[in-house]
Amino acid sequence: MYRIGSIQNGSFEAKPGHKWSWETPPAPIPENEIIETIEADVVIAGAGISGLACGCRAAQLGGKVVVLEKYTTFVHRGAHMGAINSKVMEAKGIKIDKYQFVRDWIRACGNRCDEKLVWRYVNNSEKVMNWVIDMGESYGVGCEIFGGYYKGPDYTEYPGTHILVGRPDCTLGNPDRKKMPAGSQAACEIFITEIKKHGGEIIYRSPAVQLEKDETGRVIAVIAKAEDGYRRYIGRKGVVLATGDIGGDPEMVAAYAPIGLKPKRNAYNPPKMNTGDGHKMGYWAGGTFEDGPWPTTIHLTAYALYTFFFLFVNIEGNRFMNEDNWIQAKSLNVLRQPGGEFAYTVFDSDWVDAVERLSPIGGGQFWEPLVTFYGVPWKGESNGIPQAIEHYLNKGLAFKADTIEELAEKMGVPVENLTKTVGRYNDLADQGEDKDYGKRPELMLPIRKGPFYALKWGPAFLNTDGGFNVDMDLNILDADRKPIPGLYAAGNTIGGLYGVDYPVILNGNSHGKCMTFGYIAATKMMTGNTDDLI
Ligand SMILES: Cc1cc2nc3c(=O)[nH]c(=O)nc-3n(C[C@H](O)[C@H](O)[C@H](O)COP(=O)(O)OP(=O)(O)OC[C@H]3O[C@@H](n4cnc5c(N)ncnc54)[C@H](O)[C@@H]3O)c2cc1C
Repeated sequence: MYRIGSIQNGSFEAKPGHKWSWETPPAPIPENEIIETIEADVVIAGAGISGLACGCRAAQLGGKVVVLEKYTTFVHRGAHMGAINSKVMEAKGIKIDKYQFVRDWIRACGNRCDEKLVWRYVNNSEKVMNWVIDMGESYGVGCEIFGGYYKGPDYTEYPGTHILVGRPDCTLGNPDRKKMPAGSQAACEIFITEIKKHGGEIIYRSPAVQLEKDETGRVIAVIAKAEDGYRRYIGRKGVVLATGDIGGDPEMVAAYAPIGLKPKRNAYNPPKMNTGDGHKMGYWAGGTFEDGPWPTTIHLTAYALYTFFFLFVNIEGNRFMNEDNWIQAKSLNVLRQPGGEFAYTVFDSDWVDAVERLSPIGGGQFWEPLVTFYGVPWKGESNGIPQAIEHYLNKGLAFKADTIEELAEKMGVPVENLTKTVGRYNDLADQGEDKDYGKRPELMLPIRKGPFYALKWGPAFLNTDGGFNVDMDLNILDADRKPIPGLYAAGNTIGGLYGVDYPVILNGNSHGKCMTFGYIAATKMMTGNTDDLI
């Protein structure tokens, strides 16, 4: 799911007076270079989870759908899909108070999100998740709820994260495959199968390059560039920009989400597909963006995948934060440390017992396996994490030693600093009060029993989460905040939902949002209204 980030980020330095390259629109493609014109009801640029969800719904509503994709195949990553109160949650007795949830979301987003858009997602995620669950059932794909959400009091994460799991009777895709599709791959395969079943097409290696408007200002077509030339795809009912985020274009990141240039590792795959093409095309068509800087998703995937809650030290061997926090906070804190690339978690040989005992009052991603199901307790003997740590020891991503001094030497941090930091931490643990960072006393465990361990972990840039101002039907808004007729956004081309940072209060809300908003845009384009949605 997460590959250890090995790809270097790009860099970009805007000199004073720099004119951003996209501020100059390209010349229209000459008519004589367009080798064919194809008509459809809905044309979608981007075969990621949002574009495919949108295409699936539009095709089911009777539309002729064309999805244009720049890459050689469809794109998926990750397993988590956030929704509030689906039928699978109900069957497990999970009911989220959506009013509290939205209040928490708004607080986590620093009050910079568009509250109406948050409600649009929260209110409709149940219906859309149930739609995916029902389709999954018909293809032999089950659905579970993720159990690895943070259970502590202050950085509340809600148990609304769904994981699709292909069963042995799964009928999607290649019947000879050894491993059944799961997570967002399963969702994308369901959408593709449905699009094709309803006569739609997905055309690979065909990047969308420009939009066309008619004389009334309505966006009517997308020009795509295939290997043999340009084709015009007319979208009678609408055109959707679902081309993902801007993270693969360092110039755009410098302009709109500059913190995204800081992580030294990048985990987006396939690399460099997310160059903000849809953002640029929509901008040239008069679309406007939310205020910057845009939110980003920066997760702890660059080295070892576990941090737990034990003592964190930077490369100078000094403590720097309350370790009882969520993944975005940990990632962002490391960016502000010396070196800005990685930190260490230091713990002793009682660690398995400690994590097992304390998971019910803590947990969350990077304490727990990335795929762990609701109600399944953290058990070192069965969850593979102790084996993962052994693997990290062999790979140089973890260190083990009989003394703290020896550990510091292996880590390459100043021995004197680490010894002092561990001593101070143990004193605070003994006193039952974290006078330095205010960590809950239950999580302040002294580090005394060798052998001692250090895990190396650090932030990787996944994607940006910002973009167009949209209305509640995902119509892109112009400078007067009026919808541009015919032009929609879905997934990471939209802005307004997050404000400052990716809010992990619901793991997988990114995929949840992609599917929900893709569904809403399709409904609007195909039926002319969204009266059956909340
Ligand atoms: C490693 C990793 C793991 C993740 N795990 C999770 C998770 O578990 N849960 C979660 O909610 N989120 C997760 N995310 C975030 C999530 O994957 C994205 O936010 C989400 O996929 C965005 O969907 P999208 O459809 O907007 O864009 P994308 O999935 O990026 O799809 C956009 C598509 O458009 C194509 N494209 C680009 N330009 C053009 C063009 N000009 N013409 C045609 N096609 C074009 C791209 O090739 C791509 O196929 C993860 C991200 C990463 C990097």
